[in-house]
Amino acid sequence: MSDTALLAALLAGIAGVLAGRAWAAARRRGGSSDRPEFRSSPHYSQGLHYLTQGHTALAVSELSKVVREDPDAVEVSQVLGDLLREVGQVERAIAVHQGLLARNDITRAERAHAFASLGTDYRKAGFIDRAKRTFESALEIDAGNIHALIGIEKLSEDGGQWQEAFRVQTRLARLRKTDDTRVLAHLQAELGQQAMRAGELDAAERAFRAALALDRQVFPAHLGLADLYAVRDPAKAAEVLERAVELVPERAYLAFERLDRLFTACGDPARFTQLVERIIRQDPRDWRARLALARRLSSEGRGDEALGLLRRAAEVAPHVLLIHLEVWRALRSRGLDPAAVDSYIRSAEESVFYRDPHICTACRYRADDMLWRCPHCHQWGTYVEERVAPTASSG
Ligand SMILES: [Zn+2]
Repeated sequence: MSDTALLAALLAGIAGVLAGRAWAAARRRGGSSDRPEFRSSPHYSQGLHYLTQGHTALAVSELSKVVREDPDAVEVSQVLGDLLREVGQVERAIAVHQGLLARNDITRAERAHAFASLGTDYRKAGFIDRAKRTFESALEIDAGNIHALIGIEKLSEDGGQWQEAFRVQTRLARLRKTDDTRVLAHLQAELGQQAMRAGELDAAERAFRAALALDRQVFPAHLGLADLYAVRDPAKAAEVLERAVELVPERAYLAFERLDRLFTACGDPARFTQLVERIIRQDPRDWRARLALARRLSSEGRGDEALGLLRRAAEVAPHVLLIHLEVWRALRSRGLDPAAVDSYIRSAEESVFYRDPHICTACRYRADDMLWRCPHCHQWGTYVEERVAPTASSG
């Protein structure tokens, strides 16, 4: 859930609480008013309006006025603090949330929520230890506080504490009744990598297998498993990767280098050629398969065929420097044949170049590399490669 969606849900919840409170207050007073004072403030309705329109900074300005007029508007302070953090005014957010916690007239639920919000402020400000302690304070009051659990899970991910992240994510999935198996599988794959780096090979294998049992599409777990087997049993490692390529063809290229090496180690390099040829037939726009095949052909002295493949690869992915480098290598090996060089320059001139070809399908964040966890929206497995087509030359 995005921060804004979280706020919307929060507001809906608050509206319910407010109605209940106002009703109780009206009964106590025996009066006719069924709303707390601040709700009749024009700044309050204007603030809500801005919030629904996504004008966060304007909403902050209006809700600040409400809180100034009516310091007892606890719920508004809570939302205001969260909004301040969202617009980057973390110091002010911290002050607002601390102010709430200093009050002795707020409910347990409000206190837990204020702790969770303050923890999120601290995390954003980079005070990691303080954030963790504050989230724990929230959980001491309310062990099922989703906001605090999310905070702790993210802190664990940031710190590479994958076991803890996995434990908290499992709890979150149960509490929210969401299907988080893909995230859990990625966390297991990270655990596997960590164990492998530490030389704990059995633990690594268990983690990779656990990841794949959760979600067979989680490619890094296949890669990790293959790396575990590569030295003592290259045939088994190749088998793991062939299965991975079948299961997740769009990630196949991540296994090309390993597969080329493994098939060669097994004494069967032709099997690699067959594999990439099959992938090219399935997806003629797959430039990585063409590049991989071109490299193999070049190494076998078949430069003409390699150049043909590379030219086609450059047409579908003109932004990729690797292709152009490989073209130059192939051209050089043919003594820079003028006709071949001319033909390459002509096709390059007609191409449009792009940067950062990988994009997050959740938040559109771009990156040079293929990432498993988006650094912007923190979702797992959302990165794809943007396939660009060359546009016609505009002259
Ligand atoms: Zn993202």
